[in-house]
Amino acid sequence: MSVQYSSDELMDYDEAMERFDVVLGLEVHVELGTASKMWCGCSTEFGGEPNTHTCPVCLGLPGSLPVVNRKAVESAIRIGLSLGCEIAQWCRFARKQYFYPDMPKNYQISQYDEPIAFDGRVELEVDGARYEVPIERAHMEEDAGKSLHVGGATGRIQGSDHSLMDYNRAGVPLVEIVTRPVLGTGTRGPEVARAYMAHLRDMVRALGVSQGRMEQGQLRCDANVSLMPKGSTELGTRTETKNVNSLRSVEAALRYEIRRQGAVLAGGGRVKQETRMWNEAGGFTTAGRSKEQAEDYRYFPEPDLVPVAPSREWVEQLRATLPEMPAVKRARLQAQWGLTDLEMRDINGNEGALDLIEATVDAGCDPAAARKWWLTELARAANERGVGLEDLPIDPARVAEVQELVDAGTINDKLARTVLEGVLAGEGAPARIVEARGLAVVSDDGALSTAVDAAIGANPDVAERIRGGRVQAAGALIGAVMRQLGGKADARRVRELIIDKLS
Ligand code: ADP
Ligand code: MG
Ligand code: ZN
Repeated sequence: MSVQYSSDELMDYDEAMERFDVVLGLEVHVELGTASKMWCGCSTEFGGEPNTHTCPVCLGLPGSLPVVNRKAVESAIRIGLSLGCEIAQWCRFARKQYFYPDMPKNYQISQYDEPIAFDGRVELEVDGARYEVPIERAHMEEDAGKSLHVGGATGRIQGSDHSLMDYNRAGVPLVEIVTRPVLGTGTRGPEVARAYMAHLRDMVRALGVSQGRMEQGQLRCDANVSLMPKGSTELGTRTETKNVNSLRSVEAALRYEIRRQGAVLAGGGRVKQETRMWNEAGGFTTAGRSKEQAEDYRYFPEPDLVPVAPSREWVEQLRATLPEMPAVKRARLQAQWGLTDLEMRDINGNEGALDLIEATVDAGCDPAAARKWWLTELARAANERGVGLEDLPIDPARVAEVQELVDAGTINDKLARTVLEGVLAGEGAPARIVEARGLAVVSDDGALSTAVDAAIGANPDVAERIRGGRVQAAGALIGAVMRQLGGKADARRVRELIIDKLS
């Protein structure tokens, strides 16, 4: 057993940016949302009793034969096309040998020198600046099972008594997307990497090939980074950080590695080529496997599978099914909703906000109101709970219903916030909450008139000013009425009554 802490020396980030150029390399695994696995008919559903979604094929039993899942190939092609890649006329699967209990066959079926898609690029915009990420390849492969290390393995303490294996995930189709070395990100490398991940997530969701949930491992990133002294043209030695499971950690892990490598190089040392693990709780990376010698996976063409040769007709049919890409969609919605760049930036800066606002607008809500609720009240609620906007227990349609109640004058903005709280607390539909909690605004003239009279009586000086023509002073009286009625007065009507009575 060993206890690991980070004792790395770190260079100041800005100093590292002054002295070095950053080179990134991102390897992203997308778990495809096909109903069945890559080579067999077993379910790909997440969770489930361990080892219940298995059969001889995905358990790698002798004599079982894999059959390619056509839907997975289709998804891989659509991903490739969305990345601007060429689609191979002909490609093969390959066996990648390694011995680890999560891979029951003792080899993984992947693709090696003949990937299904290659030579693409992704264009990104980060805070108004444009970047290009060159894509080397996107290939198909199968996922491994999950190991659970039991006994002794807690927190930072390594080592366990024994391991349990769950093969439900073994054989689930994956597409791995690999970039070429990404140069030219200036001081923004980690942010560009994060924006790239967000782009891939939005892209696979728009394609409908994966839900792209990072916390469930549906999108996994290995983040490579190296530094080269300013002016040098020779790539430095990279490290590959694994286990980065959120957009935030992609950025944080790269920042950490840049600062760590900067300190190593500035101290006259050499960066070791190795995989490193991101420690989410501690915010640092630790050394993993050394990669000084390229591992020998003894790849060879998979003899149990025929090559895949997608016809050009099929590829063109699939190209015709491609949805609008995220950046294009953002620009379109901005124009449609009439939002400024600044207003749009808030939306883009809030994960999932765009789609939620769009769904709210589709449910009949005014875009400005939809934007307001998701970026204020609901963003705060998500923050308080430490979850993403899309994990809040509220449907966009419900938000639209709340705004409908505001538009109808049944509730005001302040009460709307209470109603949203009620929806989040599981109290049901907005209209029901208004009734159950007695939240409807008082717009009945009798009750309002009595309250207005009382407010005028209690504030003779304000009333005098309004009589003298200073209508702006009405705000103070409206406030007094609101206090009397527990915030539930129809402010517009109160204002009218005040002016009527005092003119
Ligand atoms: P491995 O199997 O070792 O992970 P891959 O070729 O699959 O290697 O992926 C390596 C990733 O690192 C690719 O995205 C590649 O572009 C990137 N890369 C290669 N060299 C460098 C470097 N010097 N600095 C940063 N990234 C690099
Ligand atoms: Mg790798
Ligand atoms: Zn199976």
